[in-house]
Amino acid sequence: MAVTSDSAAIDAREVVDATGPTPSGSGVGELCVLMKLGEIVLKGSNRKLFERRLHNNIRSAARGLGELKVTQRGAGVIIIRMPGAADAQVHELAERMSNVMGIVWVHLVRRVAKDLDTVVDLAVRSMADRTGSFAVKARRRDKRFPMTSSELAGYVGAKVKEAHGLPVNLKRPDNTVNIEVDRDEVFVYTDGIPGQGGLPAGMSGRGLVLMSGGIDSPVAAHRMMRRGLKVDFLHFSGMPFTGPESIYKAYSLVRQLDRFQVGSRLFVVPFGKAQQQLKTSGIERLQIVAQRRLMLKTAEALADNLGAEALITGDALGQVASQTMTNITALDDAVDLPILRPLIGMDKTEIMDQARRIGTLSISELPDEDCCTLLTPRQVETAAKVADLRQIEKRLDAEELAEHLVTTAQLHRPSFLGEEMAKL
Ligand code: ATP
Ligand code: MG
Repeated sequence: MAVTSDSAAIDAREVVDATGPTPSGSGVGELCVLMKLGEIVLKGSNRKLFERRLHNNIRSAARGLGELKVTQRGAGVIIIRMPGAADAQVHELAERMSNVMGIVWVHLVRRVAKDLDTVVDLAVRSMADRTGSFAVKARRRDKRFPMTSSELAGYVGAKVKEAHGLPVNLKRPDNTVNIEVDRDEVFVYTDGIPGQGGLPAGMSGRGLVLMSGGIDSPVAAHRMMRRGLKVDFLHFSGMPFTGPESIYKAYSLVRQLDRFQVGSRLFVVPFGKAQQQLKTSGIERLQIVAQRRLMLKTAEALADNLGAEALITGDALGQVASQTMTNITALDDAVDLPILRPLIGMDKTEIMDQARRIGTLSISELPDEDCCTLLTPRQVETAAKVADLRQIEKRLDAEELAEHLVTTAQLHRPSFLGEEMAKL
């Protein structure tokens, strides 16, 4: 199945495509990737943790592209060099980095020697085919550079103006030439693509996502990854009473989400027989809530094995009958682990916009037979009583059933790199 490769721009900032054909004056200097980090207000040991995680995640996401030189520049900037690599590979690297959590901006930059004439030459070239106004912004991480930032910006700006006759607009420029001076080199770039922001995946611990084939749960997963959780996925199929389509969907969704964390695991549990068992116990209107509780209990048992500290669902308040306040409370009662519901206050349209941006919407919209629609009662209880649910579960020995269901789970490793690369 074709998986859309949405550039996954998260914020509504205007995206200027850095992966276009001519990043900042082709031909001069070495093409590399410069990234701006988020949440760098983090201090002390937390910042070290942030950096270590991020560097590891960067290397995992860049797997197979070749030798990388990753260096931290101050708290907020990382440079990745790929000496000798073809430009196309550096472009691919930038694209992959735009999906790594914790990075706010990704820029394709040219790296040149610390020589004013070379910097001017590159800045002039980088504006060669541009129209409209421009500004030059300079930043010095090495304060020993003989010019101040504003002197440098003014000097280069005058040269660009002289060469191309473009008007300067410092407040709202159509184009910006950025110059960043480091100890041993200078970086020049014009455009960038927004990254994901947030915290590096894994920094906040582990979670287990209850993953249907629907629109909501992949978005919920992305939101929690973005807050630093590394997640595993659990999907319940209606097998043996449904076909495998929902499993294919869950697989494709996880493969798409894998680009945001790398190394995802998907556990698939055939749930049809357990659903039937609930049904024959005569619970009628409570079927949906009881099923969801059994899913949660199974998830909790699996989470125990995996060392996950929270369950994550795509519930949004009031979206469907099983998501009333009372029913959500009844679901919380089923397990001890916290249930994180990052979409709880979101409208469906907002969730769909987000799903489109992270590239999961088109997969979620493919047809399948959802296990939840199997055996759905004519009327769904909107105010399930916890006492009733507990009684039913006692009769069925739901805890043991959940333990058993975990043993039937099949493990898959959907990787955005493809099966072969994932094994490397
Ligand atoms: P989604 O779009 O994520 O399917 P939904 O709006 O259809 O959500 P429900 O079907 O009530 O709502 O499911 C709510 C949540 O329960 C889902 O977001 C998901 O976390 C979990 N869930 C539902 N069905 C499954 C399933 N078959 N396997 C795993 N988790 C499920
Ligand atoms: Mg659903």
